[in-house]
Amino acid sequence: SSSDAYQYPLLIKQLLLSGRRYGPMNEIVSGDLRYNYLDLNERVARLANVLADAGIGAGDTVAVMDWDSHRYLEAYFAVPMIGAVLHHINVRLSPDQIAYTMQHAEDRLVLVHDDFIPIVEQLAEQLPTVKGYIQLTDADAPGQTTFDIIGEYETLLASADNHYVFPDFDENSTATTFYTTGTTGNPKGVFFSHRQLVLHTLNAATTFAAYEGAPLLRSEDVYMPMTPMFHVHAWGVPYVATLLGVKQVYPGRYEPNHLVRLYRDEGVTFSHGVPTVLQMVLDSDEAKTTDLSRWKLLTGGAAPTEALVRKMMERGISFYTGYGMSETCPLLTITHLSPEQAQLPLDEQVVLRMRTGTPIPMVELRLIDDAGNEVSRDDTSVGEVQVRTPWLTQGYFREPEKGDELWQGGWLHTGDVASINDEGVIQIRDRMKDVIKTGGEWISSLLLESLISKHPAVNNVAVVGVPDARWDERPLAQVVLSEGVEVNADELKAHLMQFVDDGQINKWAIPEQFHIVKSIPVTSVGKIDKKRIRAELANQL
Ligand code: ADP
Repeated sequence: SSSDAYQYPLLIKQLLLSGRRYGPMNEIVSGDLRYNYLDLNERVARLANVLADAGIGAGDTVAVMDWDSHRYLEAYFAVPMIGAVLHHINVRLSPDQIAYTMQHAEDRLVLVHDDFIPIVEQLAEQLPTVKGYIQLTDADAPGQTTFDIIGEYETLLASADNHYVFPDFDENSTATTFYTTGTTGNPKGVFFSHRQLVLHTLNAATTFAAYEGAPLLRSEDVYMPMTPMFHVHAWGVPYVATLLGVKQVYPGRYEPNHLVRLYRDEGVTFSHGVPTVLQMVLDSDEAKTTDLSRWKLLTGGAAPTEALVRKMMERGISFYTGYGMSETCPLLTITHLSPEQAQLPLDEQVVLRMRTGTPIPMVELRLIDDAGNEVSRDDTSVGEVQVRTPWLTQGYFREPEKGDELWQGGWLHTGDVASINDEGVIQIRDRMKDVIKTGGEWISSLLLESLISKHPAVNNVAVVGVPDARWDERPLAQVVLSEGVEVNADELKAHLMQFVDDGQINKWAIPEQFHIVKSIPVTSVGKIDKKRIRAELANQL
C-alpha cells in the first residue's frame, strides 16, 4: 500500500552505514588491533552470523562483560541490528548484583572477557536462561579455560560469513538494556529502542557540532571514551562517533597513565568522564609531562568542582559539562557558550563551564517547586528537574510500580534539584536525597564541595548531612589532602568565610566537622558514594 512509503524506521544500522561513508579509512584502535570502518562493517556482519549460529534471534538478550574494546563497539551494532537486545553488564557490581541483573534481564548469550570468566563460572548454575558463553580475550592465544564456551570471539568471527542482510523492523523494538547502580535495593533495569537511540545520536551530534570555533566532535576529531561502555552507552558517544566516521580509540581497562599515553600517541581530541576519573587522569605522572591543550573534555554524571575545572583549563583543555542519568539515555543538557562568552578570561569561563548547561535539542526541561509551580529564572529559586524527550526509558524493566514513581503526569522525575538563570542555563544544586536540611533551611552539598575544593591543599572532598539533635542535620566534610600539605579544620572554616563575605553561602552553612581522610568511597561508576559515606559515619557513632 502507498502508506508503506512513509514507514521508514529509525534503526541503528543506519548509524553504522553513515560512518562507512564519511570515514571509510579512519581507524578503530583497540589494544594492538587497528582496522578501518570498512573492516568494522564487515566484522559487524560476521558477529551477526556468529550470534545467529548461536541461536540468537529477535527479542533475545545478549550480555557483554568487557572492558572498553572494539568488540564492545561491534556488539553495540551487531546485537541490536539483528533485532536482539544488548545488555551492558556493569562489571563493577558485586557478583551477587551481576547475577541478579543477568537473571532479571533473562540473558541468553554472554560475551565475557577472560578477566570475568571466574565470576560467570561461579554464577553459571544460577543462570538457567543463559544458553552459552563466548570468550573475549586480549591475548594472542586465547587463555585456556575449563569453562564450557561456544568459542573464542576472534576465532568465531574469522570463520563466520562476512555478509549479513540486516532486516528492517519496528523502530520501537528494544535495542539496549542496562541497570542503574542500585545504591538502594536491587539495581533497576532501563531500556531503549532503536528509535530512541537514533534520535539521541542525531541530537547529540548536532549539539557536539554546534560549538562556535571548537566543536566537541566532528569528522576530523579522534575519540576516546573515559566513561565505561557499560555506563549509559558510554553516554551515547560511540554511536555519535560512528555516525560521523571519526577515528575511535578504545582503551581497555582504565589506567590513568595509559589513558594519557593513548591521548598523546593516537592524536585523541575528544573524551568524556566523570569528575573523579578526570581528576585521576590529570593527577597522573604522564599528564604532568604531556601537552594536554588539544583535549576537549566533557564531564558529567556528577558535578565537577571549581578546582578541577580550573586545573583543566589552566592546562589548556577545552572543558564542557553535561547532565543526564541512566533513565535518560543519558544526554539532557550540555555547556553552551555564546561566542562572546567563549572569549572571556579564564576565571569567568571556569564559572560558566562548570554549570550544568542548556537543554540539548528535543529536550523539554522544567523545574517544579514544592508548591507545584515552575520556578522563576532567577538562578536562585529551586525545583525538581522534570523532563520530556524522545529518548527516556519508558519505565523499569518488569517493575511497573517503580516506573509509575519515575513517570508522573507525562514527565520523568529526575530527583535532582536545580535552578535556572535568565539565559536558560541550568544549575543542579543537589540530589533531593543529598540536600542537607538544617534548621528549616537547606544547604547544597555540591556548592560546599566546590567552595572547599578551592583551597589549594584540598585534592578531593565530599560533603554529607549528619543527624543533629538541634538542627536536624549538619554538614560534615570529608577531605583528601594534596600530597605533602597539611591543613586543619579551622583553616578550612576560615577559607569558607570568604564565601560568606561575598554572599555565596550563609554562615550557618559552614560545617563544624572536617574529617581528613585518605580516600573517598566511590560507586561502581566512580562517583562519590554519599550513601556509603553516610552509612559509615552512622556506624562510627
Ligand atoms: P546513579 O544515580 O546510580 O549515580 P546515574 O549514573 O544515572 O546513576 O546518575 C545520574 C545522576 O547523577 C543524576 O540524577 C544527577 O544527580 C547526577 N548528575 C549527573 N550529571 C550531573 C551534573 N552535571 N551535575 C550534578 N549532578 C549530576
